[in-house]
Amino acid sequence: MMRAMGMSDIGATLEGATPESALREGALREGAIREPVWRTALRAATDLVLPPVCIVCRAPAGSHGLLCGPCFSGIEFITPPLCARLGVPLPYDTGEPSLSAAAIAAPPVYDRARAVARYSQTMRDLVQGFKYRDRQEGLRLFGRWMARAGAELLAGADLLVPVPLYRSRLLGRRFNQSALLAQGLETLTGVRADCFVLQRTRRTASQVGLSAAQRKRNVAGAFKVAPPRRHIIAGKSVLVVDDVITTGATVEACARVLKRAGAARVDVLALARAVEPADLVF
Ligand SMILES: [Zn+2]
Repeated sequence: MMRAMGMSDIGATLEGATPESALREGALREGAIREPVWRTALRAATDLVLPPVCIVCRAPAGSHGLLCGPCFSGIEFITPPLCARLGVPLPYDTGEPSLSAAAIAAPPVYDRARAVARYSQTMRDLVQGFKYRDRQEGLRLFGRWMARAGAELLAGADLLVPVPLYRSRLLGRRFNQSALLAQGLETLTGVRADCFVLQRTRRTASQVGLSAAQRKRNVAGAFKVAPPRRHIIAGKSVLVVDDVITTGATVEACARVLKRAGAARVDVLALARAVEPADLVF
């Protein structure tokens, strides 16, 4: 029953306006390498011919861009009650906005963060397939999940700002996964996405395997607000979009420069976030 509700709720189908071409175009705006026409055509033809498979494990699935039952049940969606700042689950509902002990001990630079699901094994497989293996068939689903998890933040947001990749990394990977997520959200919600607000000023080491302190040092000073974009965010409510929040060091570094540049509010929306210390090993 749980699964049936979840599946119909996410309601992913192939019908309706497809934001895919817009998403791909959007990725190009940030400097990704253009996909050859033949490849785009081949992808479209393949979609028609091949039976739908699970976007995590490739087992047969009910529809394109969905998960099979076992993978879907492996996702730990983050649901209320939540810490009002960090967006992590709280053990019980006090009936009013509450803060986690972590948010009280070390208030984040950003105002509020929300994420779709815990960064556990299935989400890790899903995100890494999307990020490193060019599996973008889940994008529409991710957009719907994020629009739902971030509804409160999106309602007051003036601008969506993806966490940027450093240029050499962008060329290696061909696209910025956070920009694709932000553009998917723009299509769904009408809140404008701007991929040029934040810039990465240097290449940073991969955060995987680093401690919280090391991650913080790794991204310190790694971002800046593009000077021609400062006027766009002054006094505005900015929603930073990222694929995964682990220790929060990256999104905090982004929030810091956005606030210094005059943003009135900086919230964060991600596909997944680490909730338990065990989630940080990824
Ligand atoms: Zn599966």
